[in-house]
Amino acid sequence: MTQKRSQSALEFDQIIVGAGAVGSALALQFSGLGYRVAVIDARPPSYQSSDPERVIALSYGSRCYLKGLGAWQDDEDIAAGLIRRVHVTEPGNAGLVTMDVTDTKEMAEDVDALGYVVEMGHLLKSLHERMQGQVTLFCPALITNIDSGDAEKKAEVQISHAGKHVVLRGSLLVGADGTNSQVRRRAGIGTKGWDYNRFGLVLSASCKHGHDNVAYECFRESGPLALLPMADGRFSIVWALAPTEAMRLSTMPEPLFMRKLEKAAGSDVIDRTGSIAGIGKRFCFPLELTIAEQYARPRLALVGNAAHTLHPVAGQGMNLGLRDAAVLAEVLSTELAFSDPGAPILMQAYAEKRRLDVMAVSGFTESLTNLFGISLPGARQVRSLALDTMQKMPSVRTLLLRQAAGIGQIESMATHGVIPGKNGKKQAENRVRRGEL
Ligand SMILES: Cc1cc2nc3c(=O)[nH]c(=O)nc-3n(C[C@H](O)[C@H](O)[C@H](O)COP(=O)(O)OP(=O)(O)OC[C@H]3O[C@@H](n4cnc5c(N)ncnc54)[C@H](O)[C@@H]3O)c2cc1C
Repeated sequence: MTQKRSQSALEFDQIIVGAGAVGSALALQFSGLGYRVAVIDARPPSYQSSDPERVIALSYGSRCYLKGLGAWQDDEDIAAGLIRRVHVTEPGNAGLVTMDVTDTKEMAEDVDALGYVVEMGHLLKSLHERMQGQVTLFCPALITNIDSGDAEKKAEVQISHAGKHVVLRGSLLVGADGTNSQVRRRAGIGTKGWDYNRFGLVLSASCKHGHDNVAYECFRESGPLALLPMADGRFSIVWALAPTEAMRLSTMPEPLFMRKLEKAAGSDVIDRTGSIAGIGKRFCFPLELTIAEQYARPRLALVGNAAHTLHPVAGQGMNLGLRDAAVLAEVLSTELAFSDPGAPILMQAYAEKRRLDVMAVSGFTESLTNLFGISLPGARQVRSLALDTMQKMPSVRTLLLRQAAGIGQIESMATHGVIPGKNGKKQAENRVRRGEL
């Protein structure tokens, strides 16, 4: 894997592989700290709306983070659907948990929604616009070799870009290249996890009464079904299904499919939303859990899906990835980092700070999928009781609300002073160190 090291390399502080939302947010934060950042992506981004739209729900915490980066001007600009209320049900079973944005008032006064539903294309466009002039982007580029370096030796990435062979050298290499991360594989970092033997069926749908800013999570034994309110009044739907069922449902005639979808959501949900009036194209993808065995080693860090790919049931993958970016930038805003941003002690600190959050969120997501997948006699009654108990226990709902809205994330970033945009002093110090000021 290690080739002869090139003499004529372009020098950077960080080389980030992957210009998805997580890699791009991290690049902006590094550049805000005064670092010289290179970003490599294999594919030119597409900001066009696809059918079905690639939609994600972000927490209030993630929105604050993106606002701090200047990548989220206002909710209208980025066409965000607001989740003001969440209904959690098990169709055909008693018990209901609801969470409302007004319940968060005691935790944080200015929270206006529990979550924000955005199209990936809008978010990426906004992040990439902010990156212009701040970072050096190599896209589209093909990676021909990666040497992730070690404590003594900088990392080196060789690419083919615009018909030329280019060598980049950096103190830190970041893998932000998604679930099948080449950076992770080339570094020999293994993963743990499993294939759920489930597919996610994704589509958009409009309902007769609209959504009234409510998100629905319908837990079914065969897999969860989520309905997320989009800015234009439609729902974005993610439905986890066994492979044969997913294939059957994705190809059946629309009217029949709409009735099946209504039945799966349950009468409690459809009474509120009204019947399904129309749907867009349907798309299926496999669901898996993949967690990297190491998040970092000297000169190398993994962020976003390269570090962890979760079941989309709790809508937490991107939120978790943005927290990786915030924490890595926090670690790299210390005095020591300015002299060597890939130093072993910093990478160790990053890995330790992320382990607990990733374990907690992946554990929570797994418990949800497992709890509602049990079909043993009596299991439905136990779940009904659990939902009712949760609804009646303010302390448990407070915990869920903090998680859903990402309020802990905001508090942690504020405590550590890493809310982007508030790093002016660090940025100036870093530029002085390099003799630029
Ligand atoms: C159906 C579905 C619904 C979801 N809903 C939610 C939700 O509601 N909320 C939420 O928080 N999360 C959600 N997620 C998870 C979320 O989409 C991901 O966690 C997030 O997109 C990961 O971002 P990333 O930047 O780490 O990776 P990616 O978005 O995968 O970006 C990786 C980038 O790396 C580039 N790349 C890959 N390989 C190479 C290479 N060899 N060389 C150069 N570049 C390369 C790619 O071109 C891409 O630009 C959902 C996921 C799915 C599938």
